[in-house]
Amino acid sequence: LPEQEAFDIEYWLLEEAKLQRMPKPRSLAGRVAFITGGAGGIGRATAERLAGEGASIVLADIDAAGLNATVDEFAGRFSRDAVRGVKLDVTREEEVIAAFRSACIEFGGVDILVSNAGIASSAPVEETDLAMWNRNIDILATGYFLVSREAFRLFRRQGLGGNVVFVSSKNGLASSPNAAAYCTAKAAEIHLARCLALEGAEVGIRVNTVNPDAVLRGSKIWSGEWREQRAASSNLAADELEEHYRKRSLLKLNVFPEDIAEAIYFLASDASAKSTGNIINVDAGNATSFTR
Ligand code: NAD
Repeated sequence: LPEQEAFDIEYWLLEEAKLQRMPKPRSLAGRVAFITGGAGGIGRATAERLAGEGASIVLADIDAAGLNATVDEFAGRFSRDAVRGVKLDVTREEEVIAAFRSACIEFGGVDILVSNAGIASSAPVEETDLAMWNRNIDILATGYFLVSREAFRLFRRQGLGGNVVFVSSKNGLASSPNAAAYCTAKAAEIHLARCLALEGAEVGIRVNTVNPDAVLRGSKIWSGEWREQRAASSNLAADELEEHYRKRSLLKLNVFPEDIAEAIYFLASDASAKSTGNIINVDAGNATSFTR
Protein backbone atom coordinates (compact mmCIF):
# COMPACT_ATOMS: atom_id res chain seq x y z
CA LEU A 1 0.00 0.00 0.00
CA PRO A 2 1.19 3.53 -0.62
CA GLU A 3 2.27 5.13 2.65
CA GLN A 4 -0.56 7.66 2.81
CA GLU A 5 -3.24 5.01 2.18
CA ALA A 6 -1.81 2.75 4.90
CA PHE A 7 -1.83 5.68 7.29
CA ASP A 8 -5.48 6.46 6.41
CA ILE A 9 -6.51 2.87 7.11
CA GLU A 10 -4.69 2.85 10.45
CA TYR A 11 -6.29 6.12 11.39
CA TRP A 12 -9.72 4.76 10.47
CA LEU A 13 -9.12 1.66 12.61
CA LEU A 14 -8.09 3.85 15.49
CA GLU A 15 -11.31 5.87 15.18
CA GLU A 16 -13.35 2.65 15.06
CA ALA A 17 -11.61 1.33 18.17
CA LYS A 18 -12.31 4.61 19.93
CA LEU A 19 -16.00 4.37 19.04
CA GLN A 20 -16.11 0.84 20.44
CA ARG A 21 -14.69 2.06 23.74
CA MET A 22 -17.00 5.06 24.06
CA PRO A 23 -19.97 4.64 26.41
CA LYS A 24 -23.19 4.21 24.41
CA PRO A 25 -25.70 6.12 26.49
CA ARG A 26 -28.61 5.40 24.19
CA SER A 27 -28.18 1.63 23.87
CA LEU A 28 -30.41 -0.58 26.00
CA ALA A 29 -28.58 -3.80 25.13
CA GLY A 30 -28.60 -6.13 28.11
CA ARG A 31 -31.38 -4.24 29.90
CA VAL A 32 -34.78 -5.66 30.77
CA ALA A 33 -37.86 -3.41 30.54
CA PHE A 34 -41.16 -4.25 32.23
CA ILE A 35 -43.97 -2.37 30.46
CA THR A 36 -47.54 -2.32 31.80
CA GLY A 37 -50.36 -1.80 29.34
CA GLY A 38 -48.07 -3.36 26.74
CA ALA A 39 -50.98 -4.53 24.59
CA GLY A 40 -52.23 -0.96 24.11
CA GLY A 41 -51.20 1.89 21.83
CA ILE A 42 -48.50 3.68 23.82
CA GLY A 43 -47.25 0.56 25.64
CA ARG A 44 -46.91 -1.35 22.40
CA ALA A 45 -45.06 1.48 20.65
CA THR A 46 -42.76 1.76 23.67
CA ALA A 47 -41.99 -1.97 23.60
CA GLU A 48 -41.14 -1.68 19.93
CA ARG A 49 -38.83 1.30 20.53
CA LEU A 50 -37.00 -0.21 23.50
CA ALA A 51 -36.68 -3.65 21.86
CA GLY A 52 -35.24 -1.89 18.81
CA GLU A 53 -32.48 -0.54 21.07
CA GLY A 54 -31.66 -4.02 22.32
CA ALA A 55 -33.73 -4.28 25.51
CA SER A 56 -35.49 -7.49 26.49
CA ILE A 57 -39.16 -6.76 27.12
CA VAL A 58 -41.76 -8.02 29.57
CA LEU A 59 -45.17 -6.94 28.30
CA ALA A 60 -47.77 -6.91 31.08
CA ASP A 61 -51.45 -6.37 30.39
CA ILE A 62 -54.89 -7.45 31.57
CA ASP A 63 -55.95 -8.10 27.94
CA ALA A 64 -54.70 -11.65 27.31
CA ALA A 65 -55.76 -11.77 23.64
CA GLY A 66 -54.15 -8.39 22.84
CA LEU A 67 -51.03 -9.43 24.73
CA ASN A 68 -50.66 -12.71 22.82
CA ALA A 69 -51.16 -10.99 19.46
CA THR A 70 -48.51 -8.37 20.30
CA VAL A 71 -45.98 -10.91 21.61
CA ASP A 72 -46.49 -13.10 18.50
CA GLU A 73 -45.97 -10.16 16.19
CA PHE A 74 -42.83 -9.02 18.02
CA ALA A 75 -41.44 -12.57 18.03
CA GLY A 76 -41.28 -12.40 14.23
CA ARG A 77 -39.38 -9.10 14.31
CA PHE A 78 -37.08 -9.30 17.31
CA SER A 79 -35.26 -12.31 18.71
CA ARG A 80 -37.86 -14.85 19.87
CA ASP A 81 -36.50 -14.73 23.41
CA ALA A 82 -36.49 -10.92 23.62
CA VAL A 83 -40.21 -10.31 24.30
CA ARG A 84 -42.36 -12.12 26.85
CA GLY A 85 -45.98 -11.50 27.83
CA VAL A 86 -47.47 -11.74 31.30
CA LYS A 87 -51.17 -11.36 32.02
CA LEU A 88 -51.54 -8.94 34.87
CA ASP A 89 -54.17 -6.78 36.56
CA VAL A 90 -52.17 -3.90 38.03
CA THR A 91 -54.72 -3.43 40.82
CA ARG A 92 -54.05 -6.93 42.19
CA GLU A 93 -51.10 -6.96 44.55
CA GLU A 94 -50.45 -10.71 44.32
CA GLU A 95 -50.49 -10.62 40.50
CA VAL A 96 -48.00 -7.75 40.44
CA ILE A 97 -45.64 -9.60 42.79
CA ALA A 98 -45.95 -12.79 40.71
CA ALA A 99 -45.34 -10.91 37.43
CA PHE A 100 -42.06 -9.43 38.70
CA ARG A 101 -41.04 -12.84 40.00
CA SER A 102 -41.67 -14.39 36.59
CA ALA A 103 -39.70 -11.57 34.89
CA CYS A 104 -36.76 -12.46 37.16
CA ILE A 105 -37.06 -16.14 36.27
CA GLU A 106 -37.29 -15.41 32.53
CA PHE A 107 -34.67 -12.66 32.26
CA GLY A 108 -32.71 -12.66 35.52
CA GLY A 109 -34.00 -9.25 36.67
CA VAL A 110 -35.58 -5.97 35.61
CA ASP A 111 -33.80 -2.65 34.94
CA ILE A 112 -36.58 -0.42 33.60
CA LEU A 113 -40.24 -0.10 34.59
CA VAL A 114 -42.62 1.74 32.29
CA SER A 115 -45.88 2.15 34.21
CA ASN A 116 -48.46 2.91 31.57
CA ALA A 117 -51.54 0.65 31.91
CA GLY A 118 -54.65 2.75 32.06
CA ILE A 119 -58.26 3.52 31.36
CA ALA A 120 -60.17 6.79 31.15
CA SER A 121 -63.66 7.74 32.28
CA SER A 122 -65.69 10.81 31.57
CA ALA A 123 -68.73 12.18 33.42
CA PRO A 124 -69.74 15.43 35.10
CA VAL A 125 -68.90 15.29 38.80
CA GLU A 126 -72.57 14.95 39.85
CA GLU A 127 -72.81 11.82 37.69
CA THR A 128 -69.49 10.33 38.79
CA ASP A 129 -70.53 7.39 40.96
CA LEU A 130 -68.20 5.89 43.52
CA ALA A 131 -67.48 2.89 41.27
CA MET A 132 -66.18 5.15 38.48
CA TRP A 133 -64.13 7.20 40.94
CA ASN A 134 -62.62 4.07 42.52
CA ARG A 135 -61.89 2.45 39.14
CA ASN A 136 -59.78 5.43 38.07
CA ILE A 137 -57.96 5.67 41.39
CA ASP A 138 -57.43 1.87 41.55
CA ILE A 139 -56.03 1.33 38.04
CA LEU A 140 -54.12 4.58 37.70
CA ALA A 141 -52.91 5.80 41.11
CA THR A 142 -52.89 2.48 43.01
CA GLY A 143 -51.80 0.44 39.98
CA TYR A 144 -48.80 2.73 39.45
CA PHE A 145 -47.98 2.47 43.18
CA LEU A 146 -48.11 -1.34 43.18
CA VAL A 147 -45.88 -1.87 40.13
CA SER A 148 -43.35 0.78 41.14
CA ARG A 149 -43.17 -0.57 44.71
CA GLU A 150 -42.32 -4.00 43.31
CA ALA A 151 -39.75 -2.49 40.95
CA PHE A 152 -38.15 -0.59 43.86
CA ARG A 153 -37.95 -3.77 45.96
CA LEU A 154 -36.25 -5.57 43.10
CA PHE A 155 -33.94 -2.67 42.19
CA ARG A 156 -32.71 -2.45 45.77
CA ARG A 157 -32.05 -6.19 45.89
CA GLN A 158 -30.20 -6.10 42.57
CA GLY A 159 -28.04 -3.18 43.73
CA LEU A 160 -27.65 -1.79 40.19
CA GLY A 161 -29.88 1.27 40.41
CA GLY A 162 -32.97 1.32 38.24
CA ASN A 163 -35.21 3.38 36.05
CA VAL A 164 -38.92 4.11 36.30
CA VAL A 165 -40.96 6.02 33.72
CA PHE A 166 -44.59 6.89 34.44
CA VAL A 167 -47.01 7.65 31.62
CA SER A 168 -49.31 10.20 33.23
CA SER A 169 -51.16 12.80 31.17
CA LYS A 170 -51.53 16.45 30.39
CA ASN A 171 -54.69 15.99 32.45
CA GLY A 172 -52.54 15.29 35.51
CA LEU A 173 -51.51 18.93 35.53
CA ALA A 174 -54.43 20.68 33.80
CA SER A 175 -58.14 20.21 34.38
CA SER A 176 -60.29 18.79 31.62
CA PRO A 177 -64.09 18.97 31.38
CA ASN A 178 -66.09 16.09 32.87
CA ALA A 179 -63.09 14.02 33.88
CA ALA A 180 -62.47 14.75 37.58
CA ALA A 181 -61.77 11.11 38.51
CA TYR A 182 -59.29 10.61 35.66
CA CYS A 183 -57.54 13.96 36.16
CA THR A 184 -57.21 13.41 39.92
CA ALA A 185 -55.76 9.91 39.44
CA LYS A 186 -53.33 11.21 36.81
CA ALA A 187 -52.22 14.01 39.18
CA ALA A 188 -51.60 11.38 41.87
CA GLU A 189 -49.28 9.51 39.49
CA ILE A 190 -47.22 12.64 38.91
CA HIS A 191 -46.82 13.29 42.63
CA LEU A 192 -46.05 9.63 43.32
CA ALA A 193 -43.25 9.85 40.73
CA ARG A 194 -41.77 12.88 42.51
CA CYS A 195 -41.89 11.11 45.89
CA LEU A 196 -40.25 8.01 44.42
CA ALA A 197 -37.56 10.11 42.73
CA LEU A 198 -36.62 11.43 46.17
CA GLU A 199 -36.53 7.97 47.74
CA GLY A 200 -34.70 6.33 44.86
CA ALA A 201 -31.98 8.92 44.29
CA GLU A 202 -29.60 7.65 46.97
CA VAL A 203 -29.58 4.15 45.44
CA GLY A 204 -29.37 5.22 41.79
CA ILE A 205 -33.04 4.79 40.91
CA ARG A 206 -34.37 7.50 38.60
CA VAL A 207 -38.11 8.21 38.27
CA ASN A 208 -39.54 10.48 35.58
CA THR A 209 -42.91 11.11 33.96
CA VAL A 210 -44.11 11.57 30.40
CA ASN A 211 -47.30 13.57 29.96
CA PRO A 212 -48.96 12.93 26.61
CA ASP A 213 -51.67 15.12 25.20
CA ALA A 214 -54.42 13.36 23.21
CA VAL A 215 -53.05 10.35 21.29
CA LEU A 216 -56.04 9.09 19.34
CA ARG A 217 -54.46 6.69 16.87
CA GLY A 218 -53.75 3.20 18.16
CA SER A 219 -55.31 3.89 21.56
CA LYS A 220 -58.02 1.53 22.83
CA ILE A 221 -59.14 4.26 25.24
CA TRP A 222 -60.03 6.43 22.26
CA SER A 223 -61.88 3.64 20.46
CA GLY A 224 -64.42 3.46 23.31
CA GLU A 225 -66.97 5.83 24.83
CA TRP A 226 -64.25 8.25 26.00
CA ARG A 227 -64.03 9.52 22.41
CA GLU A 228 -67.77 10.27 22.20
CA GLN A 229 -67.71 11.96 25.59
CA ARG A 230 -64.65 14.09 24.77
CA ALA A 231 -66.26 15.12 21.50
CA ALA A 232 -69.50 16.04 23.28
CA SER A 233 -67.55 18.13 25.82
CA SER A 234 -66.13 20.17 22.92
CA ASN A 235 -69.38 20.27 20.92
CA LEU A 236 -67.76 18.27 18.12
CA ALA A 237 -68.42 15.04 16.25
CA ALA A 238 -66.12 12.15 17.19
CA ASP A 239 -64.40 12.18 13.79
CA GLU A 240 -63.58 15.90 14.13
CA LEU A 241 -61.51 15.45 17.26
CA GLU A 242 -58.13 14.61 15.75
CA GLU A 243 -58.17 17.70 13.57
CA HIS A 244 -59.41 19.74 16.53
CA TYR A 245 -56.45 18.62 18.66
CA ARG A 246 -54.03 19.36 15.83
CA LYS A 247 -55.40 22.86 15.27
CA ARG A 248 -55.40 23.82 18.95
CA SER A 249 -51.75 22.73 19.45
CA LEU A 250 -49.01 25.35 19.24
CA LEU A 251 -47.09 23.32 16.65
CA LYS A 252 -50.25 22.35 14.70
CA LEU A 253 -49.36 18.67 15.01
CA ASN A 254 -51.09 15.55 16.32
CA VAL A 255 -49.27 13.37 18.82
CA PHE A 256 -48.83 9.66 18.05
CA PRO A 257 -47.85 6.64 20.19
CA GLU A 258 -44.37 6.68 18.63
CA ASP A 259 -43.83 10.24 19.90
CA ILE A 260 -44.56 9.15 23.47
CA ALA A 261 -42.34 6.08 23.01
CA GLU A 262 -39.45 8.33 21.95
CA ALA A 263 -39.67 10.38 25.16
CA ILE A 264 -39.94 7.20 27.24
CA TYR A 265 -36.89 5.80 25.48
CA PHE A 266 -34.90 8.96 26.29
CA LEU A 267 -35.87 8.75 29.97
CA ALA A 268 -35.24 5.00 30.12
CA SER A 269 -31.73 5.30 28.66
CA ASP A 270 -28.54 6.75 30.12
CA ALA A 271 -28.94 9.71 27.75
CA SER A 272 -31.08 11.21 30.55
CA ALA A 273 -28.71 10.09 33.33
CA LYS A 274 -28.99 13.45 35.14
CA SER A 275 -32.79 13.71 35.09
CA THR A 276 -35.02 12.51 37.88
CA GLY A 277 -38.32 13.73 39.31
CA ASN A 278 -38.99 15.49 36.00
CA ILE A 279 -41.81 15.64 33.50
CA ILE A 280 -41.63 15.66 29.72
CA ASN A 281 -44.79 16.97 28.09
CA VAL A 282 -45.32 15.45 24.64
CA ASP A 283 -48.17 17.62 23.52
CA ALA A 284 -47.10 19.64 20.48
CA GLY A 285 -46.77 22.60 22.83
CA ASN A 286 -50.15 22.41 24.47
CA ALA A 287 -49.24 22.27 28.17
CA THR A 288 -48.96 26.00 28.51
CA SER A 289 -52.56 26.76 27.60
CA PHE A 290 -55.98 25.71 28.89
CA THR A 291 -57.89 24.19 26.00
CA ARG A 292 -60.90 21.95 25.64
P1 NAD B 1 -54.77 1.82 25.47
O1 NAD B 1 -56.15 1.54 25.99
O2 NAD B 1 -54.49 1.62 24.03
O3 NAD B 1 -53.73 0.97 26.32
C1 NAD B 1 -53.87 0.80 27.71
C2 NAD B 1 -53.58 -0.64 28.06
O4 NAD B 1 -53.72 -0.79 29.48
C3 NAD B 1 -54.57 -1.60 27.41
O5 NAD B 1 -53.90 -2.60 26.65
C4 NAD B 1 -55.34 -2.19 28.57
O6 NAD B 1 -55.73 -3.54 28.38
C5 NAD B 1 -54.34 -2.04 29.72
N1 NAD B 1 -54.99 -2.06 31.03
C6 NAD B 1 -56.10 -1.41 31.41
N2 NAD B 1 -56.42 -1.72 32.68
C7 NAD B 1 -55.45 -2.57 33.12
C8 NAD B 1 -55.20 -3.23 34.35
N3 NAD B 1 -56.04 -3.11 35.41
N4 NAD B 1 -54.11 -4.01 34.47
C9 NAD B 1 -53.27 -4.18 33.41
N5 NAD B 1 -53.46 -3.60 32.20
C10 NAD B 1 -54.53 -2.80 32.07
O7 NAD B 1 -54.43 3.32 25.91
P2 NAD B 1 -53.18 4.26 25.61
O8 NAD B 1 -53.69 5.42 24.90
O9 NAD B 1 -52.04 3.49 25.06
O10 NAD B 1 -52.85 4.74 27.10
C11 NAD B 1 -51.71 4.34 27.83
C12 NAD B 1 -51.49 5.30 28.99
O11 NAD B 1 -51.32 6.61 28.47
C13 NAD B 1 -52.67 5.37 29.97
O12 NAD B 1 -52.16 5.43 31.28
C14 NAD B 1 -53.33 6.67 29.60
O13 NAD B 1 -54.01 7.26 30.67
C15 NAD B 1 -52.14 7.50 29.18
N6 NAD B 1 -52.50 8.64 28.32
C16 NAD B 1 -53.07 8.39 27.11
C17 NAD B 1 -53.43 9.47 26.32
C18 NAD B 1 -54.12 9.27 25.00
O14 NAD B 1 -54.65 10.25 24.47
N7 NAD B 1 -54.11 8.07 24.40
C19 NAD B 1 -53.20 10.79 26.75
C20 NAD B 1 -52.61 10.98 27.99
C21 NAD B 1 -52.25 9.89 28.76
